[in-house]
Amino acid sequence: MMNEKKETLSELAPQNAAESTVSETDIVFDCPYCGKNLCIDYHGAGLMVPCPECEKRIQVPIPEGMEITDFDSSPEEVRVRLIHMREALIEAQSRLAEQQQELASLRERCMAFEQIFANIRETFRSVHEDSSRMKRDLALVSGSLERITKMAEEAIGESL
Ligand SMILES: [Zn+2]
Repeated sequence: MMNEKKETLSELAPQNAAESTVSETDIVFDCPYCGKNLCIDYHGAGLMVPCPECEKRIQVPIPEGMEITDFDSSPEEVRVRLIHMREALIEAQSRLAEQQQELASLRERCMAFEQIFANIRETFRSVHEDSSRMKRDLALVSGSLERITKMAEEAIGESL
């Protein structure tokens, strides 16, 4: 019965879970790229496989508690599995590096924005100072104007 496996490891491909009969030993998971619900024979655990929907290469999750011995693999299958695991690791490392780079550039942009905000705050503060000074000057001018008007009125009154 052990030899009844229909496919070799490299021929294993995930199926759309909604459109195929999911057996009890199948691994059901979502594509991390397009979110499609997929299923694959448990022998596919840890393998890099193409998503039938978006065609990106994705790693089949290894179910919790699954042991290497659960696969009853031949040496050839162990070799294939190791190659896939390594490919998945390299893929994960390159995605991590990409994300770190993105994070660094976000931090840079954030700092640039903070600088812009600091400049705007400084501009507002100096505009506010200018307008307070202008208000004080205006009060002085209008005070003088009042006094001059009063003096003029008195002078006119005296000459009448
Ligand atoms: Zn996909």
